[in-house]
Amino acid sequence: MKRVLTQLLNLTDVVVESSIQEGSVLILSVGKKEKSAVCPHCSTKSRHLHQNQNYLVKDLPMGDKEVILNLNRRRFKCKKCRKTFSEQLNFIGTKKSFTHRYAEHIVKQLISSNVSNVAENNGLTDEEVNSMLEDVAKNVLPINLNNLKRLGIDEISLAKGQGKFIVVLVDIDSGKLIGLVKERKQLEIENVMRKWGEEVLERIEEVSIDMTGNYKSLVNKICPNAVVTVDRFHVTKIIHEELNQARIAEKKTALELKVEDREKVFDSLKGNKFTILKAEDKLTEQQKIKLDTIREASPIIAIMHSLKEEFRNLFNTSEDSGTGILGLLDWLEKAVPYYQKSVKTIKRWFGEVAGYFERKTTNGVVEGINNKLKLIKRNGFGFRNFRNFEIRALLSWHYNTNLAR
Ligand SMILES: [Zn+2]
Repeated sequence: MKRVLTQLLNLTDVVVESSIQEGSVLILSVGKKEKSAVCPHCSTKSRHLHQNQNYLVKDLPMGDKEVILNLNRRRFKCKKCRKTFSEQLNFIGTKKSFTHRYAEHIVKQLISSNVSNVAENNGLTDEEVNSMLEDVAKNVLPINLNNLKRLGIDEISLAKGQGKFIVVLVDIDSGKLIGLVKERKQLEIENVMRKWGEEVLERIEEVSIDMTGNYKSLVNKICPNAVVTVDRFHVTKIIHEELNQARIAEKKTALELKVEDREKVFDSLKGNKFTILKAEDKLTEQQKIKLDTIREASPIIAIMHSLKEEFRNLFNTSEDSGTGILGLLDWLEKAVPYYQKSVKTIKRWFGEVAGYFERKTTNGVVEGINNKLKLIKRNGFGFRNFRNFEIRALLSWHYNTNLAR
């Protein structure tokens, strides 16, 4: 029986000495097989048992039984340095009331749920769950950034309409989240990135950012070898925004037209944001018909739409950077009367936008990351505890890779 339970328990070097069942709880008295332990002060092996020290820790369930280990963590006295010490147990953190693997089991549930729910489902307190989160985080964080070459910096708002943004740091090549900053302030971002260490920062070759102007000077300051580029998705975004604003403005103007014209223009533009913004070659048959109606009713939107498509093709097809950059210059000239705001912004960031044609870096992974973050936040009641949110987020990208030990 003891042998079977020891096998089932499957903790390295640990044997089950006895077991008691109390209702749905299985209490296993366990200890280490080894008769000796190594003194942490002088590294001498000691067999001189000083005292037995029992305490209870929670472990993974077996079948429908909750498992509590009555663990004997022995104290030894070192004959060489005369100090007493407790033996090392690698499956449990110091002063913790649960095993590492139990903490992992709980934290896995946390990725798609929240602390209170997980606590309740497992008969734990919120504090215990938080403590397990920290325990697991110690094994996963900090993330290994030795292969970071291309960094993406982006921001998202997780609380709609509150104007509160967090900054998302992404390894573009692995497509993984590597850091979160709780505010858009440069100093906060700098603090997080500085913790990565000089070597990591020096190894970064490219940083892809948006055109808000929040990050460029920071990147120049702390990533000495990085080229700053603007991601095509951010450029596309401002063009889409301006096109959509034009659609809304046209709709308003239509109200001043004669009745029959008014209906034609207004109805065609109403509720058709996505038909207009979606890539034309991806439209459904029905959307294509809608688009034709829009073009006919509103010549300005028709021109802006075709400029938007041209812009997209420019980024999709340009074979070499020369062609791309010339194409972009052409486009800017044509677009001035229609996309005043976007043209101004792109001109201001011309070097960084043009950098795309050379390096073809896109931050496309960020969108998926942002969606997942929103999900984690929704499941977890958000930011009452930013550190908690950050750990959960990082774990959900790095859990499997870093915990394979
Ligand atoms: Zn010693």
